[in-house]
Amino acid sequence: MIVVPCPNCGPRNSSDLRNAGEVAPRPDPETASLTEWRSYLYLRENPAGWVTETWYCRSGCRRYFTIERNTATNEIRESENS
Ligand SMILES: [Zn+2]
Repeated sequence: MIVVPCPNCGPRNSSDLRNAGEVAPRPDPETASLTEWRSYLYLRENPAGWVTETWYCRSGCRRYFTIERNTATNEIRESENS
């Protein structure tokens, strides 16, 4: 079990939330190539270490928020833009 701090609801069991994946910068729709869009949609770094992730609070406030999680230890710290 991982306890994830929702900024609106407080600490919650990760089963109450959904991990929406790593935060990736969105390419400019006017200039991005198909390869850049494909990479943005489907490819992730998946490092062992600190990753900024988006989570969805599906059983509580129903809002998206970002946190930083260490994928090796599941240690969590709040992101600057959460
Ligand atoms: Zn919440």
